[in-house]
Amino acid sequence: MASSVAEHRHAVTHMLRALDALPAETVPLRDARGRLLAADLLSPLDLPLFRNSQMDGFAVDAGSVESTPVTLSIAGTVAAGDAGSTAHVAGTAVRIMTGAPIPDGADAIVPVEDTTVADDRVTIDRGRTVGEFVREAGSDVVAGELLVAAGTLLAARHIAVLAAVGVETVSVRRRPRAAVITTGAELVPAGQPLSPGQIYDSNGIALATSLEANGAEVVSVARSSDDVTQFRRLLDDALANADLVITSGGVSMGDFEVVKETLQPLGGQFGHVGMQPGGPQGLTMVNDVPVLSFPGNPVSTLVSFEVFARPLLRKAAGLPAVVAADLPITRDLTSVPNRRQFLRGRVRDGQVDIVSGPGSHLVAGMALADVLIDLSAETTTVSAGTHVQVWAL
Ligand code: AMP
Ligand code: MG
Repeated sequence: MASSVAEHRHAVTHMLRALDALPAETVPLRDARGRLLAADLLSPLDLPLFRNSQMDGFAVDAGSVESTPVTLSIAGTVAAGDAGSTAHVAGTAVRIMTGAPIPDGADAIVPVEDTTVADDRVTIDRGRTVGEFVREAGSDVVAGELLVAAGTLLAARHIAVLAAVGVETVSVRRRPRAAVITTGAELVPAGQPLSPGQIYDSNGIALATSLEANGAEVVSVARSSDDVTQFRRLLDDALANADLVITSGGVSMGDFEVVKETLQPLGGQFGHVGMQPGGPQGLTMVNDVPVLSFPGNPVSTLVSFEVFARPLLRKAAGLPAVVAADLPITRDLTSVPNRRQFLRGRVRDGQVDIVSGPGSHLVAGMALADVLIDLSAETTTVSAGTHVQVWAL
């Protein structure tokens, strides 16, 4: 397999297509932010549920306050939370609080600012017409109307209206479940002393957090030595629980390529994609679960994730697509022919600069970047000021 980025992306898209049709699950409303609503939600109630006051003031019949000032006797008080069974007597005023039910027969609210109270009488300085400061039942939404449409990415404002109609749980699309396996005899976890030749495993946590940042649920992060038996065992665990497995390392041309050695006999496609970094790639379907195999250099792993996994995961999660921008580059550069380059760049004042060398081990350099600069395979030279395509990280 030697392919272009577009061809490999096409193959990955095909293999990951099941992620777009994951079944629904029910979650408490409190946990629904950022989830995709699975089905149209119709309102079970009218909102407002009952006719109530928009102001603290006095409920009146508008006819009695046509010419002002006028003094009316105060017939009672209704507060928010009162049952509101009293009927309004024309020519009187009922003291009323915001959100309190309006007595039947009253049809306008005079705000407290326009009144003066003496004993049990209120003088009203300014008249109000029928309906002023009255919130009619059903004026926001009527029971049975569409409240939130299927496919909505639930944000706090959607959760607010669902809470307002008393919803406790919602049916949302299940998040893609992802498992990560890093490989390498040299890897140790943070917190453990390093022996000569060993390094800390950074790809496990980098992939896990990248997955979560793009709407996936990470079910496991495992680390394997370059040992086929151990890798196979960890792979089986991952396959049992995940919709997608991502591996790092063990896919190139060395002597101990545990991922390739295990997955190629299972039908995996391993080979070179015309890109830098991230050239060696693998793609395998095992027990109907797609396994994406990225090379182990930390920058290669992250760039592979950005190019192949991130767009598909965002689509599956209903997150907005990452869109490219065109920005002028600050300096001249050359690019390897026949390789699509993803350079690490930083945007300042509307221009993009290169912040790291080309080495795919330069993980600290990658941390300085906020974009990937995407140079086509045909590009060999770029002069300062030329617009280049960039992808936000
Ligand atoms: P590989 O793709 O397995 O040949 O690894 C390429 C380079 O990436 C080697 O220098 C590895 O030590 C390094 N590497 C592989 N996996 C990881 C990892 N999980 N964290 C940090 N570096 C890694
Ligand atoms: Mg390795």
